[in-house]
Amino acid sequence: MLVVGLTGGIGSGKTTVANLFAERGVPVIDADIVAREITTPDKPAFAKIVKHFGDDVVMPGGTLNRSRLRSIIFADKRERLWLENLLHPLIRDEMRKQLSALSVPYCIAVIPLLLEVEFYSFINRILVIDAPESAQVDRVLSRDRSSRSEIEAILKSQASRHDRRAKAHDVIVNDGVIADLAPQIEKLHAMYTQLGREKN
Ligand code: ATP
Repeated sequence: MLVVGLTGGIGSGKTTVANLFAERGVPVIDADIVAREITTPDKPAFAKIVKHFGDDVVMPGGTLNRSRLRSIIFADKRERLWLENLLHPLIRDEMRKQLSALSVPYCIAVIPLLLEVEFYSFINRILVIDAPESAQVDRVLSRDRSSRSEIEAILKSQASRHDRRAKAHDVIVNDGVIADLAPQIEKLHAMYTQLGREKN
């Protein structure tokens, strides 16, 4: 099977693009969803996070306060690295497990930090979603409650557009309306299906 790593900066359109592949019957494994699965209160990572950051990162209902955690780690690089070092190996192992259960020509693994982290050796091909930074900020502002300065801090902590494009095998440009994405996805879907079949 061909494993395509889908990546891009905050608000670039990763989920939007992944959903369009999923609509075409392609299995999608998303690192953000896996990250949630491995940090539920019954999982060992939960206790480690609470021990490190304190009860402040726990909601009254007992689950992780993700927006609080996000504010902490993007205000302090050491804290971000601590959390990433804990979670990335666990996310990688869980993704690998979910991938091994699939039997299709190709699948999509959505990994926001694919190019910032060296852990994801099961990825065969890199698909970057590229959008202007101003569009990224505007889209996230209208989607959730993050502040502009928080979004800009996250942008700054991530790879630049230039670096991402340099490492990409394929690029989807998301600088227009959502309808512009379908033809780009059709083309890649045909190519990945072909490449996946050749790989078997
Ligand atoms: P994050 O990094 O925060 O997880 P993401 O890269 O997965 O974000 P999406 O969630 O797909 O990005 O897109 C961010 C927001 O922008 C969503 O509300 C989405 O509907 C919207 N959006 C995506 N592409 C476009 C577009 N071309 N035009 C207008 N809105 C868009």
